[in-house]
Amino acid sequence: MRMFLGAVAAVSIVGAAACSPHYVRSRPLDLGRIVAPAPSLTRNVLLVSIDGLRPDAIDRFGAATLQRLISEGSYSLSARTIMPSTTLPSHTSMLSGERPDEHGVSWNNVTSAKRDVVAFPTLFSVAREHGYETAAFFSKAKFSPLQRPGTLDYSQAPGGWFGKWSSGRTVGDVRAHLEAHTPNVLFVHLSDPDSAGHGSGWMSEAYGRAVRDADAALGQLLASADTAYGAGNYSVIVTADHGGHEYGHGTADPRDVTIPWIAWGRGVQAGALHDEDIETIDTAPTVLWLLGVQYPSEWDGDAVTAAFEERRELQPAVAD
Ligand SMILES: [Zn+2]
Repeated sequence: MRMFLGAVAAVSIVGAAACSPHYVRSRPLDLGRIVAPAPSLTRNVLLVSIDGLRPDAIDRFGAATLQRLISEGSYSLSARTIMPSTTLPSHTSMLSGERPDEHGVSWNNVTSAKRDVVAFPTLFSVAREHGYETAAFFSKAKFSPLQRPGTLDYSQAPGGWFGKWSSGRTVGDVRAHLEAHTPNVLFVHLSDPDSAGHGSGWMSEAYGRAVRDADAALGQLLASADTAYGAGNYSVIVTADHGGHEYGHGTADPRDVTIPWIAWGRGVQAGALHDEDIETIDTAPTVLWLLGVQYPSEWDGDAVTAAFEERRELQPAVAD
């Protein structure tokens, strides 16, 4: 079990944002302390998590952007999340490469979330230590433990106790950010399908509309990424924190724990993942591997290298 930064830093920053949106902007990087990465397949990775998206919803409800990424990219529709299959524990695993018994985030309520900031290495902290710019856009208030100051050049999340933003709202903010910034690691969380699943049932018509809303927002996000990074100059991973059935999730039911895992864009080898056994803890290692960064050896997850082209070998330095 890892330790958490408790009182001072978390309370002074998070507590002030209890009733308003929570924006975090870190100090500029200390370029003297940066560890240079190895050659990388890409310099830019966009990681999108669609909350509560079941893989079988993509075709069922005609999510056209996701269908395009699947047809052009490399994907698994039988990847697995952790137990409990709930939002904050699962996203912590997705972004830290660790199972809950290692990362210790077992709660999924904003009351606990407002008190703590995770103190262990995350995708954001490791990437930033290697000189990469990081940004995260969360659509629910409970993510504040992952907005650790110093690990994200920019992040935002709704405030209040039950704050939630639509996919359109969040992606609108990301698009505005991309007009002035090109973060190397850009995490975007979209919440609509989960909200509709809890309200009207997973795979209901309302859930289907929410899936299409998130899908349309993803399409807009990719259009902005094309402009910001240049078409073909960034890699994308789209996944989910959990699925769901009836009006909830959190159990080991296959409908709760099966998630999509789709890689698309720069460096991706199309159609390569049919037999791969992918877990959500493999996501952070994959992003770092793409960026040429060695992820912490103690992490439970491993990079899904089968989804990508072979990385170019380091060229030997030329002596004068
Ligand atoms: Zn969730």
